[in-house]
Amino acid sequence: MSQGKKRIRKACKKRVAAAVAAACLFASAPVGMPTAQAFWGGLGNVLGTVIGGAVQAQNTRDYYLTMGNNPNIQNANYLLALQNAANRDRPVDPEAVKLTNEIMNTMIENGDYVLRNNSLPFRWEVVADDTFNASCYFSNFICVHDGFIQKCGYNRDEVAAVLGHEMTHGYDQHIANLASRKILTSATLSAVTGALATTNAGVYVSATNLPDALINFITVKNTDVKNEKDADKYGFYVMSSAGFNPGGAAAAMARMSYYTAHRDQVSDFFNPSDHPDTRKRLKDMAELLHKYGIGHTQVLNVNDVYFDKELLLTAEPEGPQDAEEMAYLISGGIAKGFHDHRFVTDWNFHTLQDGTIDFLDNNPAYAPLKNALRTEKGLGERFQALVERAYANDVKSGAREKFLKDELARKQHNRELRQKLAARKEDSDDKSVNGNIYMKLGLTELAEKEYKRSAKLDKDNPSAKSGMAMVMSSRGNNTEALKLVNEAIAMNPNLGASYVARAEIYKNMGDTDSALNDCNMALSVSDSSTYAYKLAGDIFHAQGAADSALMEYRAYHKAVPEANDIPEEYKSQLN
Ligand SMILES: [Zn+2]
Repeated sequence: MSQGKKRIRKACKKRVAAAVAAACLFASAPVGMPTAQAFWGGLGNVLGTVIGGAVQAQNTRDYYLTMGNNPNIQNANYLLALQNAANRDRPVDPEAVKLTNEIMNTMIENGDYVLRNNSLPFRWEVVADDTFNASCYFSNFICVHDGFIQKCGYNRDEVAAVLGHEMTHGYDQHIANLASRKILTSATLSAVTGALATTNAGVYVSATNLPDALINFITVKNTDVKNEKDADKYGFYVMSSAGFNPGGAAAAMARMSYYTAHRDQVSDFFNPSDHPDTRKRLKDMAELLHKYGIGHTQVLNVNDVYFDKELLLTAEPEGPQDAEEMAYLISGGIAKGFHDHRFVTDWNFHTLQDGTIDFLDNNPAYAPLKNALRTEKGLGERFQALVERAYANDVKSGAREKFLKDELARKQHNRELRQKLAARKEDSDDKSVNGNIYMKLGLTELAEKEYKRSAKLDKDNPSAKSGMAMVMSSRGNNTEALKLVNEAIAMNPNLGASYVARAEIYKNMGDTDSALNDCNMALSVSDSSTYAYKLAGDIFHAQGAADSALMEYRAYHKAVPEANDIPEEYKSQLN
């Protein structure tokens, strides 16, 4: 591959452009900022005002939002979480991992919440840590201590409630919104802009090379009582709309009551200084549950389950759950039944062969209720009569409409917000860039999510298509990959990044001649991509052609001086 055919890139790509602007902040006025000018102009103001002793709040918020939408920052959160796990000398509890994965995937898929265009898809990690804790960072990285799952007795609905709470901190961008009141020091800004500079040119592979100022920035856990209340409330809706037992939220609070006496074991989700009192939170969750169930069910005197102001049963402890937790899980089954079913016929009451009454389906959310009704002869029949009476009364009183009013308003609000976000075609490129960073991190599933979001925002965006092509290729489906990438090239034959993608695919297929040919194409088209140098360098390096590899890496380094993904053995020879 000859140097002559290649050209230094013409246009700065978005993330690299960011680095250019950042460097300028500390020197003279920025020259020729190509994209995202408004934002980086704003950043200039932040720095200026920090130095001047004041801060423009709105811009600090933008700063957190931009960093929160960067997979490299999310990955740094992940690396730090692994490094900081208190009990990392022991293996992570596999049952906690399995349960967390199931719950998170279900809530992400089915929960009613709105992920903003400038938010990353959720990433989570269960770490070996005995303390009762889970936390969500502004990059939508959720760190889950396996000790917390164990201390909930692996109860899926309690765990879902806590994770729904954490997700709400993330998708509602609580930290960025609160950060608007925070003043960033120039050292922090410098570290963070330095981190941004590396995002398109390489990725962090270990926590050890993260600057302290950046660590301080990315581990910020700003929270206040209002955000915590919102996280409880909307977390309740996330988990219950995803199909979990809505009593899980109050049950989780009941579980945490125990830890009130052991505050040293608990932080974030239950941090006494910034979270409301646990019994108060329990009361709020119980109230939400009551409304969710059209007002028919209630827990009184710790573990008495009431139905329309009549005592239905007194809950008993079951496995690791105490009587109070069980009362809320039983009540939760009733509430879910009423909430999800408009007509009593939907309950499908019927008698099983053993003479007990059964209803609804085998959703585990109903298991505590069904088990409790079986403990006393005739209780099932009494419950059926109460449910039938309640439905008849609701028709007359209009209770359903009344109790679900707030929830319907919230759903409508979410729908409108989704429509508004879906119309923002201009956000499409950003999601493709994120996909590329995820690919470099080896996180194919998250990359796929970002490429899909990119394509959904703009179906004519070739970057979304070539991105999906790389995902397909990484999974060994090169036929589909070539089909997609050729479609991307047809959409815009002058886009270098598409040729880089096709070169990656050819490289995966072992066709290095075609790969190098596409590297040249990537550099010769009008919207060239200098990543082609890096790819060509990697190909030559793999072939043992060290001189050619060095030449490519040198060209890459010249085009992208902040690149940190050049192999060590070549780095020393660059200058
Ligand atoms: Zn919280």
